Amino acid sequence: MGVYAMTGGATGIGAALKARLQSSGHDVICVDIRDADIVADLSTAEGREHAVAEVRARAADGLDGLIPCAGVPPVTQPLSLIARVNYFGVVAVVEGLKDLVAKRRGTVLLVGSNSAPMVTGDDSYVQACLDGDEDKACADIDARDGHTAYAGSKRALTMWMRRQVVAYAEMGVRINAVAPGITRTPLSEKVMSDPTLGQLMRDFADSVPWGGTAQPDQIASVMAFMLSEAADFVCGSVFFVDGGSDAMMRNDDF
Ligand code: NAD
Repeated sequence: MGVYAMTGGATGIGAALKARLQSSGHDVICVDIRDADIVADLSTAEGREHAVAEVRARAADGLDGLIPCAGVPPVTQPLSLIARVNYFGVVAVVEGLKDLVAKRRGTVLLVGSNSAPMVTGDDSYVQACLDGDEDKACADIDARDGHTAYAGSKRALTMWMRRQVVAYAEMGVRINAVAPGITRTPLSEKVMSDPTLGQLMRDFADSVPWGGTAQPDQIASVMAFMLSEAADFVCGSVFFVDGGSDAMMRNDDF
């Protein structure tokens, strides 16, 4: 059975995936800010270094999969925390552990969002993320809005993933992303109860072609497939698991 490392496995989509992997007999090393094998705050450089060092100590023989799932919602303050956790925390963990994944010709599965295409790739915040300039990205986004902070972090992360595909494949790592739509987790509950974004999110949920919102396991089941041998030619792909909302908004783009 495999050895997997993940972040954000304490609740929501990550917890559902962790349960699936464990019920299939895999070992799962979980990093989270709470309730985890390795407790680390991925918004800080120290937390990221601690997480990477501790995973390395526990998985010296390599990883079959790495799933950086930790994320914070658009209602987070300061907004720069969204950039720190959702983009820079993810990239640091993946870069710090990619050689362990290569050791087993394993797979990295990022968690994007169906909101990612709502911010353009040439946005200054997205570009600062992709340039690896955390100070600039944080200063830029602190003067803007939560939607841009969140969707832009996922836009940058998805672009970063696509840019790594060739180098990672050469290294022996298959990298992909899942792009969930609204999923019933503590993260989405925080947005739903926000006085401004809550109504927008409920209206969006009402517009989803296949109906409403997902349960965490409806995302985790697709992620488990993407991590499995059955998906071993899936590389550089973004799987939208969003009830058809991306197709509804961007018919001709894929
Ligand atoms: P969640 O809040 O249930 O899970 C997020 C996890 O990240 C939690 O376990 C939390 O403790 C952890 N975390 C937060 N900040 C952290 C930090 N600084 N350091 C370490 N761990 C930290 O939310 P979820 O909805 O299951 O989110 C999982 C992923 O799915 C996130 O990347 C999120 O952006 C993405 N996503 C969620 C939705 C949705 O509607 N729920 C939609 C699209 C994408």
